[in-house]
Amino acid sequence: MKWFDKIFKRKQSTPQKSSGMEITPEHAKKMLMMIEKTQEKELSCDEVHALLDQYAEMSLRGEDPAELLPLVHYHLDMCPDCKEEYEALARILHAPIEY
Ligand SMILES: [Zn+2]
Repeated sequence: MKWFDKIFKRKQSTPQKSSGMEITPEHAKKMLMMIEKTQEKELSCDEVHALLDQYAEMSLRGEDPAELLPLVHYHLDMCPDCKEEYEALARILHAPIEY
């Protein structure tokens, strides 16, 4: 995180009075850490299985599960077992609305 401190120290050394919204270094750091955390987090097969219902229902409702549950989407991309599971579930859920 050293580069980050550098950027902000340089910025703060030029004194300026700004009004309105200001992102403090502390705030920005927290945001960055959150982003890093979400990117690092990977779901286990068990966790994905627990979310498959929701995932399938979202796609049934016309929502975009890949956007709402990106970690599940990512896992399904990487894990053939879970993908098979999901496809089976989707088939069941989609059956009544298929012509
Ligand atoms: Zn899996």
